[in-house]
Amino acid sequence: MADFKLFIDGEYVDSASGETFTTTDPATEQPIGEVAKADREDAKRAIQAARTAFDDGPWKDMSGEERAGYLDKMAELLTANAERFAEAEARDSGGTIKKATFADVPGAAGALQWFARMARERPDRVELEGSPFPPSENYVRYEPYGVCTGIVPFNFPLLMACWKMGPALAAGNTSVLKPASYTSVTALMLGELAQEAGLPNGVLNVIAGPGGTAGEELASNEMVDKVAFTGSTEVGRRIMQLASGTIKPVTLELGGKSANIVLDDADLDIAAAAVLFGTFFHNGQVCESGTRALVHKSIYDEFLGLLVDRAGKIVIGSQMDFNSDLGPMVSRAQADTVRRYVELGREEVGEPICGGSEPEGLADDLVTENFYRPTIFAGVDNEARIAQEEIFGPVLCVIPFESDDEAVAIANRSIYGLGGGVQSGSVERAQGIADRLQTGTVWINDYHMISPERPFGGYKQSGIGRELGTAGYDIYRQAKHVHTNPSTGRDGYMHYAALSGNI
Ligand code: NAD
Repeated sequence: MADFKLFIDGEYVDSASGETFTTTDPATEQPIGEVAKADREDAKRAIQAARTAFDDGPWKDMSGEERAGYLDKMAELLTANAERFAEAEARDSGGTIKKATFADVPGAAGALQWFARMARERPDRVELEGSPFPPSENYVRYEPYGVCTGIVPFNFPLLMACWKMGPALAAGNTSVLKPASYTSVTALMLGELAQEAGLPNGVLNVIAGPGGTAGEELASNEMVDKVAFTGSTEVGRRIMQLASGTIKPVTLELGGKSANIVLDDADLDIAAAAVLFGTFFHNGQVCESGTRALVHKSIYDEFLGLLVDRAGKIVIGSQMDFNSDLGPMVSRAQADTVRRYVELGREEVGEPICGGSEPEGLADDLVTENFYRPTIFAGVDNEARIAQEEIFGPVLCVIPFESDDEAVAIANRSIYGLGGGVQSGSVERAQGIADRLQTGTVWINDYHMISPERPFGGYKQSGIGRELGTAGYDIYRQAKHVHTNPSTGRDGYMHYAALSGNI
């Protein structure tokens, strides 16, 4: 019997097979509950519900104002239930309760509110002035695609679900979401908000299950009109292939290996905070983490001292304790990946200058193997595998440089281009560098500042398209041009004079 059921067509249901999987607290490895395990059949059921809700339901024909009302209501209900959602998110994902309380839940509610505003403010019909073919009158109508699927990763389950569902619904589409198996609970809980807000049945559907079956169905099914995916570049490639069968547009938010550049004129206090927060927040399980710190040679030794000193003070413990800065990794598998990369780093670079092991002295109920200390490798060559491959763990590579040009060249030498930072006392110099970085976001004297009003996405193999901002709303709408000739005749068609009857 599932404790957390699939949300399909307005109802919580078991999977067709009746199968479930156990979700656990990664800090203690104690079970949280049984989750209904969707396979292809359940995915098809959810897609069919979304299809019918789009084709026959009232959703797409409502005004933007009406749709916005539902999204605002869901945001309000999420905020009213913030504590319950934050606790569920922290326990299921291993992210700290502090992060869930101050980032995930308000961020998710904020995204819903932003897209509600988009539905109100962005016109769905724009009259075009003048005509190249007088006396025609022309307008562009913005229409929803239809059924939009959203496949999301384990690191920010609730937030990513709302980044997908918010714009899809605001623009008049219907949606099927699939969270990652390790972290399905809060996305499934969105169904409660939909029910309470009175969202029409089938407009939002949420299923949990393996990527290889349920996920592949969401990316390939011919009833699906658009796919949005956040996750690894490897799976993103597969999503593109699956979507290509019926030429579905894809939005892809993929991996990263972002560079955080510390110039010789930086305030080292602020820069150290930006580098440490930029790398170790949520154990480095953040796509745009600044996991390559490029540090000017003239401040290199002093800066390393600051990093090591402060990294050692980061508090590791139960994610449910408000005093913890870091909890466990999302899973034993992810912790094992970190251990493997740290061993590789030892071979490629030598001993890390801090970290490099599990923390000692954790409370008895915590599983030490699932935790890892913030780890810093210094003097790293940018060509090393630990500097090029996404580790998705608390591992920082520090790379020295001597000139701004060299820093830009190193930063851009990556298959990824998602985020990045420039730490400098000169805004002009920092912006000059920011303009030359091949990446979707640059923070100057800051890091990880993401908000729904600003576009977010990647260059190169970090993705296609943008989420958030106005771009993140418009990407869920098709533009239709309607040309009207209000008169009954036309003087002539330039290539076919005979057709106008003038010959
Ligand atoms: P993942 O790619 O393993 O899985 C992501 C989602 O895809 C999960 O729901 C999974 O079940 C599903 N999936 C897996 N195989 C599939 C398939 N063949 N077909 C359809 N769906 C499939 O990623 P993860 O381990 O959950 O998350 C970590 C990755 O996500 C990192 O690479 C990180 O950089 C990336 N990420 C990117 C962003 C961004 O905005 N660019 C944000 C967060 C995370």
